[in-house]
Amino acid sequence: MYKSSEYPFLYHFSLFDSFSASLSAGVTGRKGGISNAPYDSFNTALHCGDETEAVIENRKRLCEALHIDFSAYTCSEQIHGSESAAVAESQKGAGCRDYGSTIKGTDALMTDRKGILLNIHLADCVPLIFYDWKKQTGALVHAGWKGTAAGIAGKTVRAMREAFGSSPESILAAIGPSIGPCCFEIGSDTADKIESGFNYSTDVISREENGIHADLWKANEEQLLEAGLKQHNIESAGICTSCHNDEFYSYRAEGGLTGRFSAYLLLK
Ligand SMILES: [Zn+2]
Repeated sequence: MYKSSEYPFLYHFSLFDSFSASLSAGVTGRKGGISNAPYDSFNTALHCGDETEAVIENRKRLCEALHIDFSAYTCSEQIHGSESAAVAESQKGAGCRDYGSTIKGTDALMTDRKGILLNIHLADCVPLIFYDWKKQTGALVHAGWKGTAAGIAGKTVRAMREAFGSSPESILAAIGPSIGPCCFEIGSDTADKIESGFNYSTDVISREENGIHADLWKANEEQLLEAGLKQHNIESAGICTSCHNDEFYSYRAEGGLTGRFSAYLLLK
């Protein structure tokens, strides 16, 4: 992952570079918006307590940077579940002005339609961006520890197969900035839930004297490999939001009172 523009800060994945004619996908940073502290300044989420006008202005700045109308900004409820939904044309713009009209009951949005800007909003949870270069379809996944434990990564790959006939061999997947194993300290209950959801081949949980830590990056990568993706088609940013909350938002590092950055996907 690399920084591709400033004000607003946008970050892109090398994995998607050769598809720039048909795909815009990446994540935003926290600089270049108008929100005041503690949401400063490029907060794109309406549900965290920031002023609605500021969030909408920030979202418009993202749309402007991507050369798409604000009415295309589409987002989901994000309930820490594992359900996915294929976005219908009639849902274009869902949630762009108010949280109440987001696409309900889902943490993963899939699309085969051009001109719909999918968004998920994050502060430590793992964003996954999928692009099937053969079918020209994509998905955006919000995978916190609960979604990871529930196997949302693999479930969404299977949902893309069913909805669009996607083959896992042609799906590219980016794992975005999120809380890293360095900072994601958890209790033993949470560790058990993460481990029991999937038969991991390597340790995604480390139990050391300094506490129990989970590696959600590795957990999601393993789920993707198991779902049939190729290792060389997966790019992990490896950036911890808690260590880098000057650049991104971190729910943990900021005591729960902060904004959210976006992961976005737009088929062109
Ligand atoms: Zn960290």
